[in-house]
Amino acid sequence: MSHHSPATTQTATQSSDCPPPADEEPGSIPAEEPPHSLTQIANPVPSIHQPHTTRPALWAAVPDEQWQDWRWQLGHRLSSVDELAQVIHLTTEEIAGLTADDKFRVDITPYFASLIDPDDPHCPIRRQVIPLGRELEAFEGMQADSLAEDAHSPVPGLVHRYPDRVLMLITTQCASYCRYCTRSRIVGNPHQTFNRSHFEQQLAYLRGATQVRDVLLSGGDPLTVAPKTLETILSSLRAIEHIEIIRIGTRVPVFLPQRVTDEFCAMLRRYHPLWLNVHINHPKEITPELSAALAKLADSGVPLGNQSVLLAGINDSIHIQRELAHKLVRNRVRPYYLYQCDLVKGAGHFRTTVAKGIEIIEGLRGHTSGYAVPTYVVDAPGGGGKIPVMPQYLISQAPGRVVLRNYEGYITTYDEPLDYDAGMIEHLDRQAPRRAEPGQSGVHGLLAGERVAIKPEGFDSVHQRKGAAP
Ligand SMILES: *Cc1c(COP(=O)(O)O)cnc(C)c1O
Ligand code: SF4
Repeated sequence: MSHHSPATTQTATQSSDCPPPADEEPGSIPAEEPPHSLTQIANPVPSIHQPHTTRPALWAAVPDEQWQDWRWQLGHRLSSVDELAQVIHLTTEEIAGLTADDKFRVDITPYFASLIDPDDPHCPIRRQVIPLGRELEAFEGMQADSLAEDAHSPVPGLVHRYPDRVLMLITTQCASYCRYCTRSRIVGNPHQTFNRSHFEQQLAYLRGATQVRDVLLSGGDPLTVAPKTLETILSSLRAIEHIEIIRIGTRVPVFLPQRVTDEFCAMLRRYHPLWLNVHINHPKEITPELSAALAKLADSGVPLGNQSVLLAGINDSIHIQRELAHKLVRNRVRPYYLYQCDLVKGAGHFRTTVAKGIEIIEGLRGHTSGYAVPTYVVDAPGGGGKIPVMPQYLISQAPGRVVLRNYEGYITTYDEPLDYDAGMIEHLDRQAPRRAEPGQSGVHGLLAGERVAIKPEGFDSVHQRKGAAP
């Protein structure tokens, strides 16, 4: 197929007029308001006069109540070339990606599609959700289950990788699908999702796993699950005494901010302490609609974090990352993780070097609020879990002194106490609770004297040479 033109001339004229998403911040006070209006400060929930993203012509006639209804948005997602060609000028490579047989599912909410610049093939919104032909190319190191999650699952959908926390996948569905999705092997299949009997098995495992104090609901996107089912899962988790915190990882506020209704927030309030991580990769995603959704969540007492993925051609720029971090913090969202792109099928062309991630952290730490600096992590292939990576700040050390450098390149010394007594805390230390981490105490276990070495696989047999043939 060749270059598609928009379906109607009306769409064509209108969509090229369509500005990129409005950049205004929520709570920016209109000129006629008194500058320190208390109501503005006390009640950041936006009114209907709040600026919002301009809709493409295709949806201009859709009544506001429908556009703002998350069910309408889900029911009108775009997935085919023909549907997408009505709102954006597709490139040849996008058409190749969209028409490929063996592709990861495509589905884009009308709201998110309305953020796409119809004329810019490099639009960061567009690149995240519209496949390119090259998505199907294999690359060196590519793996199906790059994080070995399946091996870590005691029951379907539960990934118990770390000592005290689990990942609980409750659906395979998302509001829209990200081309670089780390779980594309399980996500997006409309015929295979988790059901009530899986939830029962997951909950049964958790009731018995008393070391688990933190449950992270993810998927797929937990916010696409029927509201009643989600509440049942939350209340069942809350009923388990040893589960201290519940976390939700979701991209629904980004794809479908309409889902963050007052009713939904009131429901979340019943299950505190509940934390929520969103997934925002580019400042353009932070529209007035998303800001309003984030404000509602924050006002409901939900601490908000952001996990983003470092993506070539989308956000692998220190200036874009700074803008993102600043916009997040203004929206009461703490940047949590910046992920190195996983070695997953379909993500080859999104990968950057690790050096780029280090460079970005170098450009953030010290240059801006500590609150605005995420932890850059490589999720280790083979199931090693998240490994933080950062620039080196410790330059050298000798007994009694360390040499450090700051973000400006200022090199300084810190004199360490020569009479430090690490045993002074023992009395209090004995009273603090112990948490067992069988087999997972790791390098800390070495420091604590639990063992003297961690051996690579096959180490003992390699070194049992006594009497063996050379
Ligand atoms: C990321 C992740 C977690 C949570 O890790 P935190 O560092 O605590 O945010 C838990 N389980 C799995 C399998 C994960 O991938
Ligand atoms: S929202 Fe998350 S789980 Fe869903 S496609 Fe995107 S990255 Fe994958």
